[in-house]
Amino acid sequence: MSKKSFPFAERIFFCYFEKQKVVMTDFQVTILGNGSAVPTAYQNLSAQLVQYGHRRFLVDCGEGTQMQMIKYQVSRKNLSHIFISHLHGDHYFGLVGLVSTMHLFGREQPLHIYGPEPLEEIIQRQMDASDTRLKFPLVFHVLQKAGKIYSDNNLEISCFPLNHRIATFGFVFREKERERNLQKDFVRRYSPGVEQMHRIKQGADFLLPDGDVLRNEDITLDPPLSRSYAYCSDTLFDPDIVPFVRSVDLLYHEATFDDAMADIAAEKYHATARQAAQIAKAASVGELLLGHFSARFSDTAHLLEEARGVFKNTRKSGEGMTYKLSTR
Ligand SMILES: [Zn+2]
Repeated sequence: MSKKSFPFAERIFFCYFEKQKVVMTDFQVTILGNGSAVPTAYQNLSAQLVQYGHRRFLVDCGEGTQMQMIKYQVSRKNLSHIFISHLHGDHYFGLVGLVSTMHLFGREQPLHIYGPEPLEEIIQRQMDASDTRLKFPLVFHVLQKAGKIYSDNNLEISCFPLNHRIATFGFVFREKERERNLQKDFVRRYSPGVEQMHRIKQGADFLLPDGDVLRNEDITLDPPLSRSYAYCSDTLFDPDIVPFVRSVDLLYHEATFDDAMADIAAEKYHATARQAAQIAKAASVGELLLGHFSARFSDTAHLLEEARGVFKNTRKSGEGMTYKLSTR
């Protein structure tokens, strides 16, 4: 299969496994902002772009997100789904501006927005007050409880409740189980039809003309393992989160405060870097990405140290940085 048969925006990687090409779709997260409460000269407010192939999802949209999108060359035209974790301003005050820009750009295709219930009313009132009649449909999806909120051929997105002062949700992006790969030698030797190949990729055996059966595991290769990403911001340290993020390849978890401010973290329904690491460890995730840093820290190196004391495979998220999802 040549590269040209895929959508142009879909970046394809070929991994060689037993001389067989396995197609891996690009799956990555770009941090547009990882600061909490107020923007500073060093950090912008929560927003990130999750990309799977040519599909692009915005997660949270703090004030200034559009400027960050311009800075990091993220198009504002072809987003189709926006997920808002909760209605504290630092997570969604940029949304109405982004919707307005899409309108001024002449957008026509629907925009799906997921968030707690009053979000639709808040956006609508701002549109009404400015007598803005959007040229495209806004489709609101109210987040109420844990469950699947999006699904396509390759990807499934779920939400789950976090423990914060107001209704707040985390999100998990999971790649669906992929089809098995046919072994080249088998295809060359037996030239199965399209229908047969489809069934074998889904696990069927192959019947030879003499009645013998070739078992599926002898004529196929395992597909690449499915990859997953979870976003947890904002939340109190809460082990109830663990089952929802168990074994994800990459976990972004808020680390608003340091050890010395653990009492303040609890009071404000936030977590420390060490607590983020405790969640990562309990959930056996592949890697932890810290974010949502308090504006009081001009240097967050000690947060990384504190977290690594519990969970070694931890990184500090960096604004403008892209993290590729890989299987373990
Ligand atoms: Zn909050």
